[in-house]
Amino acid sequence: MRLIQHFIDGAATTATPTRTGDVYDPARGEVQARVALGDSALLDVAVANAKAAQPAWAATNPQRRARVMFRFKELIEAHMDELAELLSREHGKVIADSKGDIQRGLEVVEFVCGVPHLLKGDYTEGAGPGIDVYSMRQPIGIAAGITPFNFPAMIPLWMCAPAIACGNAFIIKPSERDPSVPVRLAELALEAGLPRGILNVVHGDKVMVDAILDHQDIKAVSFVGSSDIAQYVYGRGAANGKRVQCMGGAKNHGIILPDADMDQAVADIIGAAYGSAGERCMALPVVVPVGEETAERLRGKLVAAIAELRVGLPTDPDAHYGPVVGAAHKAKIEAYIQMAIDEGSELVVDGRGLTLQGYEKGYYMGPTLLDHVTPEMRSYQEEIFGPVLQIMRARTFEEAVSYPTNHQYGNGVALFTRNGDFARKFASQVEVGMVGINVPIPVPVAYHSFGGWKRSGFGDLDQYGMDGIRFYTRTKKVTQRWPAQDAGAVLDQSFVIPTMG
Ligand code: NAD
Repeated sequence: MRLIQHFIDGAATTATPTRTGDVYDPARGEVQARVALGDSALLDVAVANAKAAQPAWAATNPQRRARVMFRFKELIEAHMDELAELLSREHGKVIADSKGDIQRGLEVVEFVCGVPHLLKGDYTEGAGPGIDVYSMRQPIGIAAGITPFNFPAMIPLWMCAPAIACGNAFIIKPSERDPSVPVRLAELALEAGLPRGILNVVHGDKVMVDAILDHQDIKAVSFVGSSDIAQYVYGRGAANGKRVQCMGGAKNHGIILPDADMDQAVADIIGAAYGSAGERCMALPVVVPVGEETAERLRGKLVAAIAELRVGLPTDPDAHYGPVVGAAHKAKIEAYIQMAIDEGSELVVDGRGLTLQGYEKGYYMGPTLLDHVTPEMRSYQEEIFGPVLQIMRARTFEEAVSYPTNHQYGNGVALFTRNGDFARKFASQVEVGMVGINVPIPVPVAYHSFGGWKRSGFGDLDQYGMDGIRFYTRTKKVTQRWPAQDAGAVLDQSFVIPTMG
């Protein structure tokens, strides 16, 4: 059986791991590999290695660092098919979707190819007599990223690309459920010219996460995953004096006004609710039609569109989505469907019990549709993270906006309308971090930043864009004075706080 090892100092580790985890093939429901599970001793090795390599990398001029990122981008593109195949085999998403996962990460690599410009500081000449003030961005040293299973290429790249381009060393702790793609990315970065030790990959579970949070030489931690763990990581990392950003779970709403282009909205919602088997933090698992007539029209079209969906192998080019990630996750989704029924919502389409001929042990689920969902239902309040769409009917625009605003999560939200006035009000008032107007999955482009509100995000800086550059750098502010060279100039001595007046 294949053993997935840590990647430290530019090579896979060779020692036999004391603990391993199973890596499943979700399409077949079988263990396909084992992954080494590291501990604090293993992390010490990775950190020591990063610490030795980082000063020289930080001293490499930013244009040269950018050239490495440029070459890294070219290599990811050249290896797109191989990476997508590897990703689908461990995650279960269809190949085209895996390419999207890689592409969205690649765009952050493209963004940081401009890092010399992004790192420029500010300068004020003559802030006082003979005094100039400037600021510069310096790398923080060693940073770490702890990533979820659902985007094994995009999210590690969101983190490691800006961190490295800014002159840091970076340690990725990928999800132990699909750990191979980050290792392959680290190999490609090395091939692109990144010095050994600047990008290390350590595998593990809570033991490794805790080791990262407690390590004194790791100065910043970026986390993406479920909210309870995000909050825990945020608290423990911050208590240890680290800079921490943690993205959590989500329950995104799509609101349909009566004037929306219904066919387009349904096509968008079907893709956003069921694509990647609903295992996206920017999925749209709740749809809120405004008015009974809108709700009935929507429901009819959703049922028809669901009947056309094809669940299949990740390698099936005609499949709309593949299996969910694991047996326990499948059981959890099924339990939520039962909970929703018990709580009084109407099961319109039942996706449970689907099997694929020849792949009976795979973790497949058909699309589920529930109607008449209400805000007090636990199945609505919590994240299901599967191919389940809930219809929550609203009477007015204001009522519809109140649902995402009052929800514990605030990652993404979408409004479907032709009315610009409603759209403007919505974007301004809704208490959610990322808003789509007639855009179902409003993941900001790489030169903006990604982050949700409320229990979807802990910390004040978002992922990638300028926030990514800020997160992985410290600003140093320099106030300099060159005393006048005139004869007779006297040095001041003052016991009063200096002012520029
Ligand atoms: P998860 O929280 O189970 O795991 C995330 C990471 O935390 C993994 O690396 C895992 O090894 C580690 N971890 C798990 N349990 C831990 C514990 N008890 N202590 C310390 N570390 C622990 O999340 P997941 O199931 O891999 O990913 C799905 C979740 O991630 C969903 O909630 C989804 O909404 C969220 N997500 C959020 C975003 C976002 O940007 N907001 C993006 C993608 C996924």
